Amino acid sequence: MSAPHKLMALPWDESALAPVISAQTISFHYGKHHAGYVTRMNTALEGLPELADLSLEQLVVKLAGDASRAPLFNSAAQTWNHDFYWKGLKPNGGGAPTGKLADAINASFGDFAACRAALKAAALAQFGSGWAWLVEQDGKIAIAKTPNAETPLTTSATPLLTIDVWEHAYYLDYQHQREAHVDAVLDKLINWDFAAQNLG
Ligand code: MN
Repeated sequence: MSAPHKLMALPWDESALAPVISAQTISFHYGKHHAGYVTRMNTALEGLPELADLSLEQLVVKLAGDASRAPLFNSAAQTWNHDFYWKGLKPNGGGAPTGKLADAINASFGDFAACRAALKAAALAQFGSGWAWLVEQDGKIAIAKTPNAETPLTTSATPLLTIDVWEHAYYLDYQHQREAHVDAVLDKLINWDFAAQNLG
C-alpha cells in the first residue's frame, strides 16, 4: 500500500472496548488524532513523488533520523504506531499469553508477572507523550519505551505490542490517572494473539 495511504479500519466496533476505553475516547483518538496523522502524511507526500511508492513501513524506516523531514516522519510513524496499537487491543482481552510467546516471556523475564510489571513500569515512566512496547530482540522478549512518534520499527527490535501513553489515549476516561488506564488495558484489552503473531 503506497500513497495516498488509507486510515485503517478498526478491528472492532467503537464501543467494543468500553468501559475500559469508551466509545467517546475511540471517536476522538481514532476519528480525530489517528485520522489527522493520515491526512497530514498524505498532504505532505503530495509534494514528494519520490516517496509515493513506499509502503507505510518503508516510509517510516526511510525517514527515521532525517531532521529535514521530521513532520512527515511524525505523521507516518504515528499512523503506523496507531495501526499497531489498535490491532493489539480487543474486547475481552488481557489475561496472560499462552504457547510459544508465554514460553519466550518466561525465558526472558522468569514469569509473566515480571513481564507485566516491566511493561507497566515503562508505560508509567515515559515522561510526557509516547509509547510502551513489548519487543523481541536478539531472541529475547524485552520492554521498550519511546517518546512522541518514535517507534521500535526503526530499530533492530521487532515490535510485538504497544500501549499508547499519550494523554489523548486516556484523558477523557481516566483524566490524569495513567496508571489506572494502563492496568485496565493490560488486564482487560491486550490481544496476546496479535503479539504472538508478531513473534513469528
Ligand atoms: Mn494516540
